[in-house]
Amino acid sequence: MKAGLLFGPGDLRIVDAPMPEAGPDDAILRIVRLAPYGTDIATYLNKGGRYVSAYPTGFGADISGVVTAVGANVTSVRVGDRVSALALAHCGRCANCRKGRTNLCLDPAFRMPPRMAVAQEFARLQARQLAILPDNVSFDDAAMLGGIVDLLNAWDKMRPEIGETVAIVGVGAMGWGAIAGARALGHPVIAIGGTGIRAALAHRCGADHVVPLRVHDEDVSDQVLALAPGGVGAIMETSATDWGVKQCFRIAAPGARIVTTGAPGSLPASGWEVVGKELAIFGSRAGHNQEGALRLIAAGKIDLKPTITHRLPLDDLPEAFSLLTGSDSRNVGRIMIDVSAA
Ligand SMILES: [Zn+2]
Repeated sequence: MKAGLLFGPGDLRIVDAPMPEAGPDDAILRIVRLAPYGTDIATYLNKGGRYVSAYPTGFGADISGVVTAVGANVTSVRVGDRVSALALAHCGRCANCRKGRTNLCLDPAFRMPPRMAVAQEFARLQARQLAILPDNVSFDDAAMLGGIVDLLNAWDKMRPEIGETVAIVGVGAMGWGAIAGARALGHPVIAIGGTGIRAALAHRCGADHVVPLRVHDEDVSDQVLALAPGGVGAIMETSATDWGVKQCFRIAAPGARIVTTGAPGSLPASGWEVVGKELAIFGSRAGHNQEGALRLIAAGKIDLKPTITHRLPLDDLPEAFSLLTGSDSRNVGRIMIDVSAA
């Protein structure tokens, strides 16, 4: 089968790879759609060696597919099921997994779960990572679930009050999903960041206001505060940059809940700012509520398909990453990789 493997930073090749085999708790998927995501771009570039320690490696996260085989212990999915997948493997047995908080699995073996290898024709995943798609959720929809799942996890920490404005900092793949999710849950949204088509797509995902950037790392907090005098109380950072986290602190209202999804070098706030404004700062590690995200799509409340600007076959995966990381990436939305026929 064909597989997209990384052989070094920015060195992505389509190669012939052995078919995966299911262990007792696994399922084999025929991958139908793959929509590269921020983490995939970071893995592809591997700046500072933070994401990949040994090459070659498979990668990818936001996928949909069809189950083609299951292990002996698997009862949750069957051959032929259309499915999406959580990004993080987990034990399924610990106290957090039993509560559904699978992204905070307590088993040390899953604190740094093995990187998914799904940019390929067939992939092995834990069956417990999979959710069966409602009939009216397409493979395209399901391959863009990550940002919505992340938003639902952040939501539990932001706890917006009824009608409260939510700020989403960063308008990439996760940001678009988060904007659409916050709108679906009935909240006004200010989206912050982006240039080119990326800011326009934030509008299409339902943002009431978009504050785009004119230059890289521009401080736009004054423009946000003009829209939200007194600051914003519920803030989700999706850019995983120092710029993004700085914007969060600058626009934070007294009592604000700030949720960061990436790992910036440091938090740009003094202890006094945190105390004086009684800020609550949360980390959010991917998410776990795949079924909730699928219900929002099935109910017609979220449609991220307008963010798809390119559609390419698996053979052109290297070109997709060149587009996503190239000088004109500001005019690239989601790239949908048609790995196999729906
Ligand atoms: Zn666990």
